[in-house]
Amino acid sequence: MTTIAFIGLGNMGNPMAANLVKAGHTVFGFDLVPANLEAATKNGVTVMANAPAAVKDADVVITMLPAGKHVLSVYEDIAPKAKSGALFIDSSTIDVNSARKAHAIAGKYGLLSIDAPVSGGTGGATAGTLTFMAGGSKDAFTMAEPILKPMAGKIVHCGDAGAGQAAKICNNMILGISMIGVGEAFVLAEKLGLSHQALYDVASTSSGQCWSLTTYCPVPGPVPTSPANRDYKPGFAAALMLKDLKLAQEAASSSGAVTPLGAEAAQLYALYAAQGGGDADFSGIIRFLRGE
Ligand code: NAD
Repeated sequence: MTTIAFIGLGNMGNPMAANLVKAGHTVFGFDLVPANLEAATKNGVTVMANAPAAVKDADVVITMLPAGKHVLSVYEDIAPKAKSGALFIDSSTIDVNSARKAHAIAGKYGLLSIDAPVSGGTGGATAGTLTFMAGGSKDAFTMAEPILKPMAGKIVHCGDAGAGQAAKICNNMILGISMIGVGEAFVLAEKLGLSHQALYDVASTSSGQCWSLTTYCPVPGPVPTSPANRDYKPGFAAALMLKDLKLAQEAASSSGAVTPLGAEAAQLYALYAAQGGGDADFSGIIRFLRGE
């Protein structure tokens, strides 16, 4: 069994760390928020006074932090204190450029590293069924894979440094755009007097079929487990979708990719969030499209 440091024990980090403890690993943890440390202690994590103390004896260090600036500042603090030969895994969703800088910091200290953002939300984190999208060398990936397993439903090696973050924002750009498309189709159907169920029955078995329709259907009824059936309680909050769409736009502008629908989706989610929808599930964008 492995000694693991887990930095960032929030909504995602806490259940992920709990699954590592359940798998028999020794987990040292740190977070800035005392309530998160208390929850981690209950899950069997040994809480440390700061991040460098948590990583000092760890063979693997996992970070699950809000954004690129947090990851880079924590990496600057912990990389010099890490055990020789330790592996750094960053599972936060951050911009591709910061992810590459994080790899460079680890590399400066001779440490292997991967970026390994996830999809699957807090439900997947608790169930241990997250999809990990990994970027980094083959050696780093081979070392990371068995560590990620207790937290994962699927693990994909996407390529070199930053490739995991690239896959994550490309996937979520598809998701943001497709949810708006599905929402618009239901709004048009409502105006045309077509029932939600009729549109669902046709589109879910026709060429309009997609995850936004068949798993997160933005109207109540056709998919009883979708957030629309519980007044758009997340799920995947619109504010997080907006974060990922902004990261996609940053990456598009720095790489020269033309993504007009991604840009429009980012704008629509920004407007929805500004009207108070940020904490609702992202499928709640249909309410904004109706003008509610
Ligand atoms: P969160 O805000 O609940 O957790 C982040 C934690 O990091 C907080 O507890 C915060 O106190 C801690 N933190 C910040 N700076 C720190 C520092 N310097 N040292 C130690 N701890 C520090 O967020 P979350 O929902 O757990 O998301 C974490 C990451 O996972 C984000 O990048 C998010 O985009 C991504 N993500 C979230 C979801 C989701 O559904 N919540 C899904 C996929 C990916």
